Amino acid sequence: MDMHSDRKRPRTELDAEVAANAQLTNHPDLYFEDGNVIMKTGNTLFCVHRTILSKHSTVFRDLFAQNTQTLRGLPSLTVDDDKEDMESLLNAVYDGMHIDFPTLTVESFPTLAGLLRIATKYQIQRPRTAIIERLQIQWPSSLEKHDEKQVDVRERLLQQQQQQGDGAAENLIVHPASVIGLLRECNYNSPELLTPLFYDLSTRVWQFEAPFTGYHIMPLSPADKERLIVGINKLRSLQIQSFACPTVTCLRHPPAEQRRLLACQTELLKMWHNVAYACMVKDGDHCRPVEDWAGMVGMIRIACSKAATARDAQKDALCASCCNSVVATVEQSRRTIWNSLTGLFALAQ
Ligand SMILES: [Zn+2]
Repeated sequence: MDMHSDRKRPRTELDAEVAANAQLTNHPDLYFEDGNVIMKTGNTLFCVHRTILSKHSTVFRDLFAQNTQTLRGLPSLTVDDDKEDMESLLNAVYDGMHIDFPTLTVESFPTLAGLLRIATKYQIQRPRTAIIERLQIQWPSSLEKHDEKQVDVRERLLQQQQQQGDGAAENLIVHPASVIGLLRECNYNSPELLTPLFYDLSTRVWQFEAPFTGYHIMPLSPADKERLIVGINKLRSLQIQSFACPTVTCLRHPPAEQRRLLACQTELLKMWHNVAYACMVKDGDHCRPVEDWAGMVGMIRIACSKAATARDAQKDALCASCCNSVVATVEQSRRTIWNSLTGLFALAQ
């Protein structure tokens, strides 16, 4: 420090500065001896390399260029970020942008969220992309991957319940509303990840119960709260429409087979009534249409195998061709529900 300027400063000011500096701690891993710029977050000091940070972030480059502060004879920058977030970001920068992700749980989510926020703030693209990709594994946009994930989640929940009891399940899975809130805060608006998140959130209506606290959807913006309500309403309407018996399924019979066509339509109505009725009046809610329709596909397949047995016994039953068609129709209905979600929740950009 310049002794000449110190002589001009009041004693109390100097004492206060000495006391404040005494509380400062060098970060154990990220205070490099050959660093040439000091960053201060709270009482923690990071001594890092200006060129390395400037290379990855134009925001840092501009901040360094405008900065006039010094500390310990080096240019210094005081930032208002959390120490842990800055630590994650600098670790990523100094580790070739490699990010070691823990399993995504309620406990590990804040670290990941902090890193996404700070990577967005300083416009460091690779950690941001890596985190978005990690979230996409948890909330995939393809129906096939979604189905795989459901199996995986059920197994993890079962394990957790066996180890820690029923209450543990809620802590295992990060709440989709928290993830949506985080993504919006970080200017991420792509339907690719938001659609499966909104669907997941819509399946959790069972969690909302009196006395209502608003806690479950608190991280959502007012616009996203409206989007959720309207989306659920539209999704339930689509579910109801999908329960209409697809009699067109039988229209592959040519006009010359009029009697066969009418017989198949009658058999299909009977089959459909039994299966759809069981789905419509089942116990519990209708919060999970994509999963419910997987159940519909399964039940229709069973009904078709019973029809094959009946045909072998020379009894009236849906013909093999119509059985194949109705299975394909129900599978398509399920895919239509999944593919409609972006539109239903008005997430298209
Ligand atoms: Zn037929």
